[in-house]
Amino acid sequence: MKCLDCGTENKGNIRYCRKCGKDLTLPPVWFPNLKWHLKTLAIIYIVLIIFYFSIGHLLRKLPPPYDQRIIPPETTPWLYPHKNPAP
Ligand SMILES: [Zn+2]
Repeated sequence: MKCLDCGTENKGNIRYCRKCGKDLTLPPVWFPNLKWHLKTLAIIYIVLIIFYFSIGHLLRKLPPPYDQRIIPPETTPWLYPHKNPAP
């Protein structure tokens, strides 16, 4: 059995590596590879894109004036002070 830590070949069915003393009965540590990263990132991006378009679709369904990009001046008179004569 080859030690995953130091690479020493250990003969027989021993529990610990004869060079570094690592426990050979433990399962090897899992590390994410490039394929795992690409798959995970693809899932994250697909979910974000679906979320973005769903929110956009829901916002367009809101009643006016919340669906309008141009807010009427009557709604926000403080933005146009020159149009209102001072009392
Ligand atoms: Zn070892």
